Amino acid sequence: MIDHIIREQAEQTKRSPESSILEVKHLSIYYGDKQAVKDVNMNIEKHAVTALIGPSGCGKSTFLRQINRMNDAIASARSEGEILYEGGLNILGEAINVVSLRREIGMVFQKPNPFPKSIYNNITHALKYAGERRKAVLDDAVEESLTKAALWDEVKDRLHSSALSLSGGQQQRLCIARTLAMKPAVLLLDEPASALDPISNARIETLLTELKKDYSIIIVTHNMQQALRVSDRTAFFLNGEVVEYGQTEQIFTSPKAQKTDDYINGKFG
Ligand code: ADP
Repeated sequence: MIDHIIREQAEQTKRSPESSILEVKHLSIYYGDKQAVKDVNMNIEKHAVTALIGPSGCGKSTFLRQINRMNDAIASARSEGEILYEGGLNILGEAINVVSLRREIGMVFQKPNPFPKSIYNNITHALKYAGERRKAVLDDAVEESLTKAALWDEVKDRLHSSALSLSGGQQQRLCIARTLAMKPAVLLLDEPASALDPISNARIETLLTELKKDYSIIIVTHNMQQALRVSDRTAFFLNGEVVEYGQTEQIFTSPKAQKTDDYINGKFG
């Protein structure tokens, strides 16, 4: 029922075989005259977790938000360069259907933001908006996405309770489930666990390593231990530039750039 216009367009322009889901080429992003992201070039791997690390204000969120065009809502924001999806479709192109793009590339924010509705209606909201009315389809979507988000067992007996009655960690997993219900291919997570207690944080981390089997994940984190635990690849951002990008283990054990070494060893940031 959900139309995946972007997926269909991407299929037509796809170069195969390709292990990257996104190819970022010469991406610069400006807020008015201020350049927040500077000529970033990165290939994002499929079915992997990519962590974006670096000090505050160095462009990580701006970069992340560009991937599903959230920066479109900011009047002063503009970009140069390309982000190719599945090796072909430029998602920064004028003709892109942004609603469809955000189904394909879903986003979860730092602070859990469930709708003030029941758990069930949080999951089905967008599906109903897209025209789905069949109860069996909606029921299946609720069970499937809550199961994938490791929340089903905790809430299956109270699906019609308010989402706001859940704990912070459960609310965040509900927000992940709500995004998964749209059947995305890519998940963008902007510090998804930083507002949570350590146990909820650990549950989200475990969840991410499960989810990467089915999704390609990009996570902004301030927590370097978290990047080390959950990610396969890490990009170190500094002043809008990607200083170093590579396998997480390599970045943390033998960084090539002195600035990366200084940052991961706590010399600044
Ligand atoms: P990070 O995620 O690494 O903390 P951000 O992407 O949030 O960094 O910010 C990068 C730079 O862009 C910062 O200097 C920040 O002040 C600026 N910035 C972020 N959002 C906006 C906005 N909506 N308008 C103007 N400047 C912004």
